[in-house]
Amino acid sequence: MEAGAERERSLIDTFGRQVDYVRLSVTDRCDFRCVYCMTEQMQFVPRQQVLTLEELHTVARAFVELGVRRIRLTGGEPLVRANVLHLVEQLGQLPGLDELLLTTNGNQLDKFAAPLRTAGVGRINISLDSLDEQRFRRISRVGKLSRVLAGIDAAIAAGFERLRINSVIMRGYNEDEVLPLTEFALERDLDIAFIEEMPLGEASEHDRASTTCSNAWVRRQIETRHVLFDSAVRTAGPSRYVQVAGRKSRIGFISPVTHNFCADCNRVRVTAEGRLLLCLGNEHSVDLRAVLRDPDRDFGDLKAAIIAAMQRKPERHHFYDGDHAQPVRLMNMTGG
Ligand code: SAM
Ligand code: SF4
Repeated sequence: MEAGAERERSLIDTFGRQVDYVRLSVTDRCDFRCVYCMTEQMQFVPRQQVLTLEELHTVARAFVELGVRRIRLTGGEPLVRANVLHLVEQLGQLPGLDELLLTTNGNQLDKFAAPLRTAGVGRINISLDSLDEQRFRRISRVGKLSRVLAGIDAAIAAGFERLRINSVIMRGYNEDEVLPLTEFALERDLDIAFIEEMPLGEASEHDRASTTCSNAWVRRQIETRHVLFDSAVRTAGPSRYVQVAGRKSRIGFISPVTHNFCADCNRVRVTAEGRLLLCLGNEHSVDLRAVLRDPDRDFGDLKAAIIAAMQRKPERHHFYDGDHAQPVRLMNMTGG
């Protein structure tokens, strides 16, 4: 097949959805222990089971040759992976990749922001759930707010366009911070996305069904102070954006729990141990590491395995649907 034709058509699933976006988890490890994401005493994957930087690059190259335009590096916390900048530099040079993105907790961003930009990262999402030091610590269990704020400042200073804050709002933790977080973003011309807490594994003692705040509720909090209008911008992702008149910031709502957006799904995830996850909320997966580490299989076999995997992409997730099994996999194992 002629290379161009292969790029356009290879990754289409049985529901006609074209996959052009991969979230690549570079580690399951993290310097935080957020209550919605992982347990306090996490058992991480043994190091030899985690893909090497070279293997991660090979996987990324295969996806890009199959038509993927965007790769987001995530984890765990991508910036705790040793030599992650080396990988970023290599991925930044992949022909055909339109955008290299990163999601981070911001803890080490003061050091990494400028080099990440130089290495080719286009946009960064930074998680921030509270502007109160003690609360921030309660949610992240170990994080320091001032470090993350310094990271955000460094990312702004490094000249990144469309920096986005990601906030998970949970009843009993930070539901009164919707407006302060929104103002924080507006004052700095940052985008902000509110993400509904998803029931991925047992991360802590709280009952997620009672802590999860719907984005409809979050939006109403913002509307007590601002008039919102629908943004003309539709990104390829699941965020639905609104804006405040006269402000540059976009306010996004990612509502996997209250609004199923699976019909438009254009993405897959690769876990740190090389499991190609076809859906956030289902266990359908293919072991790419087995292909990578099999001396009898080559790059062509890896691409063939990825193409074949598309047939296994489920139609949708079923969060809180008692008729379907709920994911036991935690978010840091998923690649958020
Ligand atoms: N460590 C980085 C960070 O925190 O930004 C990247 C990985 S983290 C798993 C990616 C995103 O997933 C973060 O914005 C985090 O808030 C979000 N997240 C983690 N667990 C979640 C859950 N159970 N429901 C919704 N969002 C979650
Ligand atoms: Fe770490 Fe991100 Fe998970 Fe928080 S959400 S524990 S920062 S991987």
